[in-house]
Amino acid sequence: MQVQTQDKYTLTFWEKLYIPEILKGMKLTFGQMVKKKDTREYPEEKWVPPSSYRGAPVLVQEENGIERCVACGLCSRVCPALAIEVQAAETTDEKERYPELFEINMLRCIFCGFCEEVCPEEAIVMSPTYEMVFTKYEDAILDKEKLLTPVEQLRPRLEFLRAHR
Ligand code: SF4
Ligand code: SF4
Repeated sequence: MQVQTQDKYTLTFWEKLYIPEILKGMKLTFGQMVKKKDTREYPEEKWVPPSSYRGAPVLVQEENGIERCVACGLCSRVCPALAIEVQAAETTDEKERYPELFEINMLRCIFCGFCEEVCPEEAIVMSPTYEMVFTKYEDAILDKEKLLTPVEQLRPRLEFLRAHR
């Protein structure tokens, strides 16, 4: 049986010199050295997320210090990770109901944003917070006091939601 062999490749004069290839390689290396860096020196240099970013869910606190939430429980029902617990109570305020207990278990949360999508009051939104460290299980269960965030800080996200709903 006859075995077929590949033709032998013959180097050109310039390929035999290697110098053009070395110069090409050096050009690529120096080009990378002066190129804009894609990496950052985190944590000294923080990343500021865009308003489309889904960070930790928080509760919106109005300028008068009251939460927007009316304790309807929709976010809790839609949460696929069963991370939200809401207990409603009555209030004499115009909204009639408020959450006397509102907790999010951040060890369960998968940042899906369903709670934000379903909320009829824009009372729970995905904040730009991405830095979370917990050393104890209890610390990861965020109560209302920890979740309440001034509406001013959440303005970019609220505007993003209005523009894309
Ligand atoms: S972002 Fe998703 S997983 Fe997290 S609390 Fe909201 S609905 Fe639950
Ligand atoms: S955050 Fe929104 S969806 Fe959840 S209980 Fe409050 S009002 Fe209802």
